[in-house]
Order: sequence, then C-alpha cells, then structure tokens
Amino acid sequence: MHIAVIGNGIVGTCTAAWLQRDGHRITFIDPLGPGEACSFGNAGSLSPSACLPVGMPGMWRKLPRWLLDPLGPLTVRWRYAPWVLPWLLRMQQHSSRAEVTRIATALRSLLTPIFDCYEPLLEHAQAQALVRRSGCLYVYSSRDTAAQWKWGMDLRRSLGVQLRDVERDELEQLEPDLKGRFRFGLLAPENGSTVDPAQLVAALHAQCLRDGAVHLRRRATGFERTGGRVSAVQMEGAEPLAVDGVVVAAGAWSRALAAQLGDRVPLETQRGYHVTVRSSNLQLRHTVMAVEHNLMVNPMAMGLRLAGTVEFAGLKAPPNYERAQALLRQGQALFPHLDTSEVTQWMGHRPCMPDSLPVIGATRGADNAWLAFGHGHMGMCMGASTGREVAHLVAGRAPQVDLAPFSPQRF
Ligand SMILES: Cc1cc2nc3c(=O)[nH]c(=O)nc-3n(C[C@H](O)[C@H](O)[C@H](O)COP(=O)(O)OP(=O)(O)OC[C@H]3O[C@@H](n4cnc5c(N)ncnc54)[C@H](O)[C@@H]3O)c2cc1C
Repeated sequence: MHIAVIGNGIVGTCTAAWLQRDGHRITFIDPLGPGEACSFGNAGSLSPSACLPVGMPGMWRKLPRWLLDPLGPLTVRWRYAPWVLPWLLRMQQHSSRAEVTRIATALRSLLTPIFDCYEPLLEHAQAQALVRRSGCLYVYSSRDTAAQWKWGMDLRRSLGVQLRDVERDELEQLEPDLKGRFRFGLLAPENGSTVDPAQLVAALHAQCLRDGAVHLRRRATGFERTGGRVSAVQMEGAEPLAVDGVVVAAGAWSRALAAQLGDRVPLETQRGYHVTVRSSNLQLRHTVMAVEHNLMVNPMAMGLRLAGTVEFAGLKAPPNYERAQALLRQGQALFPHLDTSEVTQWMGHRPCMPDSLPVIGATRGADNAWLAFGHGHMGMCMGASTGREVAHLVAGRAPQVDLAPFSPQRF
C-alpha cells in the first residue's frame, strides 16, 4: 500500500520504518525535518522501567504548592488554567492505586520490548552507536527518603522491572560525581538511552528515504474520503495526496486530525524543558534520575543534558526559559563542580493523555486510517514498539501486545 505517515518525530519515523519492512510505500507529510519537534531535545532515556504514569496516588497533595511556584516541577499558566482544569481532573481520576496498577501493566507491555523493536531498525540504518545499554540510577538523598516512592518501585518490581538497591559506598564507586548529595540509589541495569535523540530520528528517517520513502514538507489539514476509506490527504499549499492508507503520528498536534477521522481524544500538551551543558566536566556513566528533584540527567554526545518539568500552557504560548534556568540552578546545586560556561536551552511539547497511555489503533471513521500519538513522557521509549504494533494492525496480523488499553475509542 501507499501509506502517508503524518508526522516524522520518533513515533512516525519508527512506524514508517516498520511499515516499510512489510513492503509498504511511505510518504512522510511534515513541515519540519525529522525529529525537530518534541523528539529533538528530550532526555533520551530508553527505559523498560519507566512504566509509572504521571498521575500517581498522593501527587495531588503536593499540587497546590507546586502550582503556586511558577518554576516548580509542575505548573499551569494562569491564563490556560480554565482550559486545562477538566483535563487535570480527568488525570486525577486515573491516579488511584488500582488505576495506576492497570496503567503500569499496559505501559510495561510496550516498554519491555524497547530494544527488540529498535534493534532491527538501528542495525538496518547502521545507527547502533546512537543507543547504549548503560543502565539508569534512581538516586535519593537517603534510604529513608526513597521510602516515599516505595509503592511505585514495588509496583515496577512486581511487573518484572529489575531494580537493585545501591548503598552509599557503591553509589559513589559507580558514579563518583554523585558524591555528597546522594546516599542511596536503585539501579535499573536493563535501561538504556540514546546519545542524541534528534540524531536517532534523523538516522532512521534517512534510512526510510534510502528505502524509497518520500518526505513532503507540508502541513496535513484533512482527508478526502471515498466510502468508508481515506482516499487522499489534504495539505496546506499543495494538491491532495492520493493514498491507500494513513497513519496520524503528529504528536501533540494530532487532536484535530484524529477528530476528522471520527475520534475525539483528550490530547493535551505537557511542555518540558532542557538545558544541555556543552563541555561538561562530569563523567557520568549512567542515566541519572534525581527523584526528589524530578530531574533527569543524561550524558549525551553534545554534552550533559538536564531535563524535566511539566508546564501546562498549550501549544501556542512562548517558552518560559526561566524554567530551563531553574533546571540549570538545580544541576549546579546537585553537582557544585559542574562547569556551566556553555549551555543551550530548549522547550518541547509532550503529547499527553490523561491516563498516561498513548493512543494506538484504528480510527472509528475510516477503515484505512490508524492513530499513533500521545506517548507523553515516554515517546522515545515506546516509538519503536508502537511502530511494530501499527505495522501489525495495518497488515491485519494479531498484535504482539494487547492494544485494548491504548484504543482511541477508550474515552
Ligand atoms: C523535557 C523532555 C524530556 C523528555 N524525556 C524523555 C525521555 O527521556 N525518554 C522518552 O522516552 N521520552 C521523553 N520525552 C518525551 C518524548 O520526547 C515524546 O514523547 C516524543 O518525542 C513524542 O514523539 P512524537 O513523534 O509523538 O512527536 P514529535 O516528536 O513532536 O513529532 C510530531 C511531528 O508531527 C508534525 N506535525 C504536527 N502537526 C502536523 C500536521 N498537521 N501535518 C504534518 N505534520 C505535523 C510536527 O511537525 C512534528 O515533526 C521527553 C519530553 C520532554 C519535553
């Protein structure tokens, strides 16, 4: 089939690569280059362990304090508050222990095969060097503090995540740069990361083009239908493109396109920030999650990346780079010897659903249209497994993962 993939972030690119393995002809439709939106500046962690949703039991007690702090880990711009409040209430409804257990089980099913699903794509694109399996350290100021997160960590373990306690001495041996602030850790040895998320998408996308895909630098605006099928994709400034099928993988911008295909989904964006310290003098070997600080630190090819925070302000408001600077100050406090003479900053739009589960499945309104977006904080992790599953759906094969929890019609 000739399939249009709308969006060439990590999700659209991996989906295209998996579809090509079935012999389909791909046209990417995206005004941007590969991986230039949210997939550009994320923390790059590829974590089979990252199966907990954003809305956790007890989080709501901290919310008022966070909301009053415009530089806190979770903030809402006041002008955007009336719009996002119903969505936040929905998220809250998914944060009971029973719901979190259900959601974590579903996320784990897409996260367990991360590397199995990336490996054939990386090998084909000769891009294996962009991914490493060096493990992740969740670090805490003390063992007592870590106890606050015990329920979630136990849930991860019950779902098969390997987590090993690391006491202070071993922690300092594993990562001498953590000395001082952190006295207890949990090592997730199966986790990995990419040394450059944008480069990872670009490499996979370039291979798709070498394998015959075409990239139209256009914004998709709608669909032409014949019977119950999409016959063409409409674009800004160009004639409609005739297709046999379409996948919407437009990240945080997917809602209007999904609605045109019959699925009204509560997609919201949680904006996140990074600072990348170019000439880092830290010698970290693992991805480090400073849990109390909601801060992820990842050594990358271009420097040390510090990323995190959630800001509800929609798709149009300009970035508040004070939030990125707050990440930098946090990094300086945790690593006083960090050389921050050369730093870049960035903001990206995470595509988020209130239950923290992505939308993966066939649309209600057309037999040859599929949705793949809403991966929230874990799109790099789940891009390749999503692509594999979409390829199964397009081919009419049984999925390898139970896709019911990700159904576009669950809302
Ligand atoms: C600070 C931060 C840290 C993060 N850290 C991690 C991490 O460590 N690990 C992890 O797994 N995830 C992480 N994430 C999340 C991850 O980056 C996202 O989940 C992922 O990039 C989403 O990929 P995507 O392909 O769905 O969307 P995007 O990468 O945003 O791509 C969507 C594409 O669709 C295109 N598009 C939009 N509208 C249209 C249209 N109408 N027509 C055509 N094209 C269109 C856009 O131009 C864009 O290229 C992080 C995110 C942030 C912000």
